[in-house]
Amino acid sequence: MKFIKLLFWVMIMFITTASFSQHKYAMAIHGGAGNITPQNVSPEMQEKYKAKLKEALLAGEEVLKNNGDALDAVTAAIMVMENSPLFNAGKGAVFTAEGTNEMDASIMDGKNLKAGAVAGVQTIKNPILGARAVMEQSPHVLLSGNGADAFAKEKELDIVDPSYFFTQSRWDSYQRVKKKMEQGDKHGTVGCVALDEHGNLAAGTSTGGMTMKMHGRIGDSPIIGAGTYADNNTCAVSCTGHGEYFIRYAVAYDISALMKYKNLSLQEATHQVIMKKLKDAGGDGGVIAVDHKGNISMVFNTTGMFRGTISNGRKPEVYIY
Ligand code: ASP
Repeated sequence: MKFIKLLFWVMIMFITTASFSQHKYAMAIHGGAGNITPQNVSPEMQEKYKAKLKEALLAGEEVLKNNGDALDAVTAAIMVMENSPLFNAGKGAVFTAEGTNEMDASIMDGKNLKAGAVAGVQTIKNPILGARAVMEQSPHVLLSGNGADAFAKEKELDIVDPSYFFTQSRWDSYQRVKKKMEQGDKHGTVGCVALDEHGNLAAGTSTGGMTMKMHGRIGDSPIIGAGTYADNNTCAVSCTGHGEYFIRYAVAYDISALMKYKNLSLQEATHQVIMKKLKDAGGDGGVIAVDHKGNISMVFNTTGMFRGTISNGRKPEVYIY
């Protein structure tokens, strides 16, 4: 009898360990959605974007394959894109109507629903690290403007002169848009969602916002539930597009809620929100999302979205259109 009991427990342990070791990691990133067509992105630029997206995917995977946390993977991948002038986040952020750079970022941990965000910051080299510091080292969720910049300095993050964020191409696009007095260039925001081997989900988003935005305007990217959301029970989501719509339609949370309360699959939930609700309302953009099983969905209602995926046993895959 004792022997049978022992055998039973050994079998239970084996089954649990086996299913744990099968638990895979998965990650998706975006580098913004918008009017991105082969006509307005030259072949050389397409190659540059693809190479940078791959670099970001590999930086995140480095964390995940070494049994690291989804949160660290998200941070690592976003930092690669923030440090590149190609994307509208960190270095390469677009200009406000006043010719300044004001950046927004957020991060969320699906394990405990902790979140942090910064909005309208001008001196934090990597706004995603500012968001993470708010989550981990302050009692708040969202800090804005000078207060957020000062907080980051106090926490000894890399602080740069605002001129660090200047890039000629964003300045030229600002000048063009200014002449035409229209809203310009919306794409280039970056984001990442990840599932780690422990079954934890995380999401992060970082942006310079929209060219010619009003000084003080805050988009969806630092708003938890609008531009970013993660819950281990459902999914992790990062959005990009016309922020005002993403805030009004609580896009990231809506996708999670459709899964939680209506039992929709990740694919169904992302399609319903991006291709129906948002599209019908006139909100352009897209999302990347991963669920607790490692399914990935990347849906956009624009002509293109810079994006890519990686998971255990698979090479990085990147797409634009
Ligand atoms: N969602 C961002 C914002 O409205 C912009 C973007 O994703 O391109 O600030």
